[in-house]
Amino acid sequence: MEIDGFRGRLISADHADYDTARAVWNGAVDRHPKLIARCGGTADVVAAVRFARDHGLAIAVRGGGHNVAGTAVCDDGIVIDLSAMRAARVDPAGRTARVQGGALWGDVDRATQAHGLATTGGIVSHTGVAGLTLGGGIGFLMRKHGLAVDNLLAAEVVTAEGGIVRASAEEHPDLFWALRGGGGNFGVVTEFRFTLHPVGPTVLAGPVFWAAEDTADVLRFYRDFAAAAPDELGTVVRLGTVPPLPAVPEHLHGRPAIAVACCHAGAVEDGERAVRALRRFGTPLVDLVSPTPYADFQSGLDDTVRHGWHYYWKAANLTGLSDDTIAVVADHAYGARSPRSYAAMFHMGGAVARIPRDATAYSGREVAHNIVIDAVWLPHESAEHAATETAWARRFLQALRPHRADGVYVNFLDSDDGTGRVREAYGDAAYRRLARVKTAYDRDNAFHHNKNVLPG
Ligand code: FAD
Repeated sequence: MEIDGFRGRLISADHADYDTARAVWNGAVDRHPKLIARCGGTADVVAAVRFARDHGLAIAVRGGGHNVAGTAVCDDGIVIDLSAMRAARVDPAGRTARVQGGALWGDVDRATQAHGLATTGGIVSHTGVAGLTLGGGIGFLMRKHGLAVDNLLAAEVVTAEGGIVRASAEEHPDLFWALRGGGGNFGVVTEFRFTLHPVGPTVLAGPVFWAAEDTADVLRFYRDFAAAAPDELGTVVRLGTVPPLPAVPEHLHGRPAIAVACCHAGAVEDGERAVRALRRFGTPLVDLVSPTPYADFQSGLDDTVRHGWHYYWKAANLTGLSDDTIAVVADHAYGARSPRSYAAMFHMGGAVARIPRDATAYSGREVAHNIVIDAVWLPHESAEHAATETAWARRFLQALRPHRADGVYVNFLDSDDGTGRVREAYGDAAYRRLARVKTAYDRDNAFHHNKNVLPG
């Protein structure tokens, strides 16, 4: 198959690299596209979109390939694959970065930290910038510097018609609003321009672990600690087993434990003060908080969520951390069979909550804590093992039902979370507004292999 004007790589089923090229982060996803168009630049994306439209092919768009639902790859259609477009160029004087649509967060952190700068990104360095940003983008820096979308200044977008537009506060502001939370529904983003902030390069960061038996006590303490935390302090609670990371003493590996991972985006001495009470609470199994290069901290969890393992996620926004909510979390968090399964709770608030709800399509600004329940099993493990693991995640979510706030983070939805949950992610008003922008930019729903917003 040939595409007029396309200078990247075309990979079809008879190609030696086909199986590698169609694989995404979640090894449980096994789809067979007709063609993978690995683009070298914006012109290739234009050519691929036009080709797909002319030939009536379904389109999937691949950034970092990390979406748990595997929407970066489709059966039969074409994958517009940006994985070769990973450049991140920094303007240190202007404190901005131009980032290509296939970059990973590790690419961005590396380029920006060379100048002592950073912007809010995800907590695993091999996650894609594009999908994460277009859904909102939560991470350790968000309480100080806002979500990834709050730092987005402009985007270059290839539209469903194969045109190129720039979206910013001044140009196509309706599209710019929708791109900041509405996902991959509106076009292919070939370049993002982010604002950057001085961060580190050394920050006070790391996890503190306590035994699983202490979970309820730790969470009750954490509820008040997090509520009073300065904006500089980002925390994520991880409930599962202690991962076998080099920094963790070996005798603790595999032990059920609750961890609070901290990252203080300010002076190290201020960070010491901000986390002191947490580190002194109860009897930690191990305290790994220390002055650390920010970019190293950002890749510290990479090995706990490897490419090719099998994953299934369930997610919810929480009404808060009441004693009852904590009891449900403590009861279910350690019920998985696999040592790799875990749940993570992100502490939101700070700058995220101060931006008006209707400023962007991202709709979870008033939520203080959300949770994502991650069932993980290995490719060789049995279907029965997989069923046990996914049942745990579903049971856990079901038990949280009375404690769920409106909405859910769209980037945490899995393939069995249907259109109802996509609508739930935005709420009615934002969804209706997204649907109008969808009609303006993609009336035929050419970009539907995603958390789909229907034209309307
Ligand atoms: P892909 O699978 O490549 O793409 C997902 C969808 O995004 C595509 O179907 C498409 O619709 C759209 N898309 C991708 N690239 C483009 C593009 N260039 N233009 C237009 N549309 C595009 N989320 C957070 O907010 N914070 C976190 O800390 C975080 N941590 C994570 C850690 C791991 C290990 C994983 C697997 C996910 C994490 N997530 C996090 C969720 C993450 O935001 C989503 O998985 C997101 O979809 C990943 O983006 P991607 O580019 O890798 O996805």
